[in-house]
Amino acid sequence: MAPSASSPSTDLRSLQLDSALQLLDQAGALLPDAEPYSLEWLQGLIDALADLSNRDPLTGLSNRRNFEMQLSREIDRAARSGESALLLMLDIDHFKKVNDTHGHAAGDLVIRAVADAVASAVRPMDTVARVGGEEFAVVLPNCSSSFGPTVAERIREAVAEQVVAVAPGLSLQVTVSLGGAYAPQWVRSSPLLWMERADRQLYRAKAEGRNRACLEPQIESIVSADEKSMLFAVLPEESL
Ligand code: GH3
Ligand code: MG
Ligand code: MG
Repeated sequence: MAPSASSPSTDLRSLQLDSALQLLDQAGALLPDAEPYSLEWLQGLIDALADLSNRDPLTGLSNRRNFEMQLSREIDRAARSGESALLLMLDIDHFKKVNDTHGHAAGDLVIRAVADAVASAVRPMDTVARVGGEEFAVVLPNCSSSFGPTVAERIREAVAEQVVAVAPGLSLQVTVSLGGAYAPQWVRSSPLLWMERADRQLYRAKAEGRNRACLEPQIESIVSADEKSMLFAVLPEESL
C-alpha cells in the first residue's frame, strides 16, 4: 500500500535514508555521480550499502560473515570440480604486548598495517578477511599443495618486513603465525570444519615458536574417473 504524504512511513523512510547516507559518509563510500533520488542514484546507494555490510570497518577487508560465504562457495567448487583451494588462518604474534606497551590506538594501526601487508601478498582472486580482533583469514581458490607453502611464506615475510609508524619517532614491526588446510576435493565439507582444521595448524605454528606457517598436507583424492562422472551425473553443474 502506497503511504500518503502525511503518513508516518514517509517520515520513517526519509529517516532511514538519512541514516544510510550518514553511515556512508562516515565510511567514505562513494556514491555515483547521478541526480539524488533517481533510480540510478538509489541503486548506487543500495550497492554501496551492500558493499559496506560485507566489510570490516577498521581494515576495509571482508568481514567474517562475508568470508564464510566465500568459503561455502569454494567448498562447492572443490566438491564439484575437484579444484584445490587453500584456507589460511593468521594471528599476530604477542599482540597483547603491543597494546599494553603502546596503547590500543597503536594496536589498531598495527592491525591495519598487517591487513595491508597480507592483501598485497596475495592475488586479486583471493579473499582476505579480518575474522577476529587480530586474526585474519585468506581463502585461495585454485591453489594446489605445490603452491600453498610458497604463498604462506610470502605472506609471513610481507608482514615481518612491514615497518609500522605508530607515533612520531616510533615504529614497530610484528610477525604473524599461519595455519593452513586444503578444501577436501570431491567432498562437501563445511566452512566451520575447514576453519577448525586450519586453526589446528595455526596452534601448531604458535607452539613451534611463532613467525612461521604450518600447513596440513593435502589429502589426495581417491575418487576414480568413473566415480567423478557419476557425481556429475547425479549433480549436473547447472542444477546447483
Ligand atoms: P599470541 O602470540 O599467542 O597470539 O599472543 P597474543 O598476545 O597475540 O595473544 P592473543 O592472540 O590472544 O591476543 C589478542 C589480543 O588482541 C587481546 C586484545 O587485547 C587484542 N585485540 C583484540 N581486538 C583488538 C582490536 O580491535 N584492537 C586492538 N588494538 N587490540 C585488539
Ligand atoms: Mg588472537
Ligand atoms: Mg595473537
